[in-house]
Amino acid sequence: MNDLPVFPDLESLSSAVKICDRCDLHVGRTNAVPGEGSANARVVLVGEGPGFHEDQQGRPFVGQAGKLLDEMITAIEMRRSDVFIANLLKCRPPNNRDPEPEEATACFPYLEQQLALIQPRLIVLLGRYALNAFFPEARISRARGVARRLHGRTFLPVYHPAAALRQFKLRDVLAEDFQMIPKLLADASSAEADPPTPPSTRQLSLFP
Ligand code: URA
Repeated sequence: MNDLPVFPDLESLSSAVKICDRCDLHVGRTNAVPGEGSANARVVLVGEGPGFHEDQQGRPFVGQAGKLLDEMITAIEMRRSDVFIANLLKCRPPNNRDPEPEEATACFPYLEQQLALIQPRLIVLLGRYALNAFFPEARISRARGVARRLHGRTFLPVYHPAAALRQFKLRDVLAEDFQMIPKLLADASSAEADPPTPPSTRQLSLFP
């Protein structure tokens, strides 16, 4: 498979996604769904792939799962426009079937470039497909709610909102895990605000 060109910004990446034919999913799509949100977002949320409504509108998380996601975002006093919402797959699999490994492999470089352009402080992985794209061995039931680091990035795996719609008890777990987001962001900011203390120069200033 051809490597992707390096995109200078999110807009040019989105334009390329809209005409992408790197896997067979392009054949059945109405619209590709590159993702949306702030280019300066401190948080990027990564879902699995577009469903029916997302495919119709070309926007991520606009169906029922999106409503629940919006509630979770509001509950931590953020707005959708504060974050960037992306997916592992940018095109809808037929009948919302699970992503195939070749589709994930073909599409993942777009997500990688989105993350490289945005440089978020935190990447929230919604569900097992987003989780396994970065951590192939991890299981969502064990990994959820525990921040993990990889290549200088911080990830928070959580259940997918669609899973919380199917299993009511997961809603509280998802809400609880979302509450970690402000705390992880505050930790990231204080780590930036307090660079390591330089070696003491006290003796020098005492004896100029
Ligand atoms: N589910 C996803 O994983 N992504 C969407 O955009 C919508 C539903």
